[in-house]
Amino acid sequence: MKANYDVVVIGAGAAGLFCAGVAGQRGLSVLVLDHAQTIGEKIRISGGGRCNFTNRNTSPEHFLSLNPGFVKPALAGYRSKQFISLVRDHGIAFHEKHKGQLFCNDSATQIIKLLIDECQAGGVEVRHPVSVAAIRAEGAHWRVQTQGQGDTLAGQLVVATGGLPVPAIGASAWGLDFARSLGLAVTPVRPGLVPLAFTGEQTAFFQGLAGLSAPVEIHAGSPKGVEPSYGQASFEEDLLFTHKGLSGPAILQASSYWQLGESVRLNWLWAALDDALGDGDVLAELFDERVVGRLNLAQILGQHLPERLAKALAEQVEPTGRKWAELKGKDRQAVLARLSDFKVTPAGHQGWNKAEVMLGGVDTAELDPKTMASRRHRSLYFIGECLDVTGHLGGHNFQWAWASGYACAHALKRMVTD
Ligand SMILES: Cc1cc2nc3c(=O)[nH]c(=O)nc-3n(C[C@H](O)[C@H](O)[C@H](O)COP(=O)(O)OP(=O)(O)OC[C@H]3O[C@@H](n4cnc5c(N)ncnc54)[C@H](O)[C@@H]3O)c2cc1C
Repeated sequence: MKANYDVVVIGAGAAGLFCAGVAGQRGLSVLVLDHAQTIGEKIRISGGGRCNFTNRNTSPEHFLSLNPGFVKPALAGYRSKQFISLVRDHGIAFHEKHKGQLFCNDSATQIIKLLIDECQAGGVEVRHPVSVAAIRAEGAHWRVQTQGQGDTLAGQLVVATGGLPVPAIGASAWGLDFARSLGLAVTPVRPGLVPLAFTGEQTAFFQGLAGLSAPVEIHAGSPKGVEPSYGQASFEEDLLFTHKGLSGPAILQASSYWQLGESVRLNWLWAALDDALGDGDVLAELFDERVVGRLNLAQILGQHLPERLAKALAEQVEPTGRKWAELKGKDRQAVLARLSDFKVTPAGHQGWNKAEVMLGGVDTAELDPKTMASRRHRSLYFIGECLDVTGHLGGHNFQWAWASGYACAHALKRMVTD
């Protein structure tokens, strides 16, 4: 029995297309199958339509996984500068926005074109929409049965079906179900990089501020969260008030660490500290009675935060509206303590339709970190978001798609002989 292709890749998203292009250019025969009418849809909607395609500073610290060391070999084997150089080779103009995040100047569709061009350069065949009916091991090969479009015999199988966010554009749990059907462990999944929802008084407070954005320091997670827990983290980013709750980069980052029942802690004084950029006890200087004694709290906060937010916060933590000089020392301390550790308790997240990533997935203990090959089935590989590897906001998730795809592509072997 002869395989038709060295490799069949299931999923023509970021990881699948990139892996296929590299493997094809290494001389392997590669077929990519995707069930979606249009491929690369998640890339198209990414980064607000401009695709934050990598981050100059990507490192293992930017990833959540129950096995945090797993990402190291793949990230070291394919660095962001390698993808940047590919983007340059394709003549795609880009810019750095914030903290190493790189975006296309024009459109995310340029990255989709890059991936398709790389596949073409490697002679890769991409077929879609094709629904996979079943895949089973047959001797040393994988028989891929499609619905109404025939069978294919593959020497190696790469699963690159991504995560569960945004089901309307093709997300499915197929990769996770397939892994389970072969006896591979899959860690519990939940939405990550997702806006948070609130109820009751907190909703009313946030709704009144909808549309405002402000810089905060945010803390989420706990060292002993309910398993599976990714620990705790803090970020300095902008927070956005919406009609449904809280969003913006600060909340999206925190949401990946937050678990139901926990509070998220906000430091509203971060904006003031950031403005000051000074040494020493900046807070004491900023709230020095000689400087701000004649102002009330709303006026002091209004120097660093949007006025409406400053007023709303002041009403919450110092409702008397007295001048700063009129407050006793211990009251001032209490005000500053509440502002720097302002707890909000989300009632939930806003679901898979609003999430950017999936936390959890195929257990990395099942895979070789150098090749992404299954330890139980050596000709089976999992890459991209369907693994229990999730990046922080900022281009790290695409960098993981490229790096895991590259590691896999270099491990794949030529099997079909003419
Ligand atoms: C709104 C939004 C914005 C984002 N912005 C960014 C950003 O700017 N920067 C960043 O780094 N990350 C961003 N991400 C995350 C990033 O898009 C993903 O992490 C990345 O696309 C994962 O790559 P992947 O190849 O694993 O999965 P995907 O790119 O999702 O590809 C999976 C492919 O598998 C196919 N598939 C699924 N099930 C089947 C099946 N049963 N049969 C056949 N095919 C199947 C799908 O149709 C899809 O084409 C964003 C995500 C969202 C939702």
